[in-house]
Amino acid sequence: MPDIFQSALSRLEEASKHCQIDPETLQRLRHPMAIFQVSVPVRMDDGSLKIFKGYRVRHNDVLGPTKGGLRYHPQVDLGEVKSLAFWMTCKCAAVGIPFGGAKGGITVDPKNLSKLELERLSRGFIQQLAGFIGPDTDIPAPDVYTNPTIMGWMVDEYSKIHHQKLPAVITGKPVPLGGSLGREEATGRGAYHCIKQLEKIRDWSPSEIRVAIQGFGNAGQHVASLLHRDGYRIVAISDSHGAAYRESGLEIPRIIEEKNRTRSLSGVYCECSVSTCSPCENEGTRRITNSELLELDVDVLIPAALENQLTVENADRIKAPVIVEVANGPTQPEADQILNSKGTLIVPDILANAGGVTVSYFEWLQNRSGDRWSLDEVRDRLFISMSAAFKAIYSRMNGGEMTFRTAAYVHALERIDAAVDSQGTYSYFSH
Ligand code: GLU
Repeated sequence: MPDIFQSALSRLEEASKHCQIDPETLQRLRHPMAIFQVSVPVRMDDGSLKIFKGYRVRHNDVLGPTKGGLRYHPQVDLGEVKSLAFWMTCKCAAVGIPFGGAKGGITVDPKNLSKLELERLSRGFIQQLAGFIGPDTDIPAPDVYTNPTIMGWMVDEYSKIHHQKLPAVITGKPVPLGGSLGREEATGRGAYHCIKQLEKIRDWSPSEIRVAIQGFGNAGQHVASLLHRDGYRIVAISDSHGAAYRESGLEIPRIIEEKNRTRSLSGVYCECSVSTCSPCENEGTRRITNSELLELDVDVLIPAALENQLTVENADRIKAPVIVEVANGPTQPEADQILNSKGTLIVPDILANAGGVTVSYFEWLQNRSGDRWSLDEVRDRLFISMSAAFKAIYSRMNGGEMTFRTAAYVHALERIDAAVDSQGTYSYFSH
């Protein structure tokens, strides 16, 4: 398996073939600017002590303070965090947000911790990170398996350490603690705006478009609910335990309610036999696996879970002509090549999931100005920002001369390059 960070960087090398970028810009982007690795000791409820490994990587800050989420997941390691930080640099630049990129995480399965253990872990992590992050240097936010409550503990801990209220140090906070309205739905809503742009370009009738969504966390749920509201047929969804498929389309609002009540999709599959299950609200819904979901014959596939889901092994069998990457890094570069040769249109992660960081930026602006924006204002601004970024990047594909992903990287790289150039490169200092 190639090193995940090197593999992430290969997108940069590909994009640099399509634009005039100073070699110094590429040189800088190949190296994260700072890496912080910590051990967080946590007193468990039974009195024992456990040590958790945590990371924060600031990738590049040429466009502004570094920005990016904190992830709690058993698979978190330095290579993953470096890649995610690199994608944040490219994402912020692609959508024109004045931030650089960062990411962090703890190697932990939060489902195995009590709420009090989770709070102690989160506060302990911030005690270690307090000198590394800050409203003008590096601004964390939620990511996989972290949420507004955790951000609330973190900002409280940071403010206590500094003896002042500093809400702008972390975004994605609960609204009463200075969070922005519309932040929770923002990643899903941003992806939805991308799909609405495609709807116009491809002249789609929503009721004829069959969608499969892998991952039913925050982003997956919001994109599903907005598409369902517009009449799209969401035929399959999944969580880490399995997937549900229904040819006529799933009833998304009921499933979201069920998932959030039971924390599982298992109540959505029809497990009973025809003789015992009539009438049944799950009629026609069958259980499939996560890999079967990815290979379904649908019009739009939305990977909204983790990295490396579309690989050299399954790329050949992916039938969806359109993929919208709501997860970060769901497609391996080698799989990209196979999908591109089949003519699959991939709306890349650094555009498709940029709604989250866009509203994080709005939250940071509100915290710094002391102002509060209405939900409508946040939504309007998100719509304007996502639609503009989508159109600018889509038009850069030049009718297929480069892929949508490469166009997004070219767009981002040119912005980063202009900033690097303004500080002076070889051509400036050698004359
Ligand atoms: N974790 C999200 C992402 O990957 C949001 C980051 C942020 O809001 O800073 O884009």
